[in-house]
Amino acid sequence: MHEMSLAINIVEIACQTADQNGAVKINSIEVEVGKLAGVLEDSLSFCFKAAQNKTAAENAQLEIISIPGKGHCKTCNISFNTESFFTLCPNCKGISIEIIDGKDLKIRAINVD
Ligand SMILES: [Zn+2]
Repeated sequence: MHEMSLAINIVEIACQTADQNGAVKINSIEVEVGKLAGVLEDSLSFCFKAAQNKTAAENAQLEIISIPGKGHCKTCNISFNTESFFTLCPNCKGISIEIIDGKDLKIRAINVD
């Protein structure tokens, strides 16, 4: 499962970061999940619980921040929110759209003691 490998990755990065900072406990991990990243948030939360087991992140909360998808029309040079990669410009109905935000999953913050 896609979300499982992401969850393992998040836990590994958090543990490494905690280690580098001499932290003993990870309280929470904030991740930004783009609406167009193809990640199911519920599934990610579920997998995280399995992945954090018996690690330094065992008691950490996973906080998921949803980032809306954003497209940019090259024809009229405007940006707009979108839920899909396959979208038309809301202004000119054109197809010269570049997706500029909401494609990624990234760790925003790791809060440690
Ligand atoms: Zn346009």
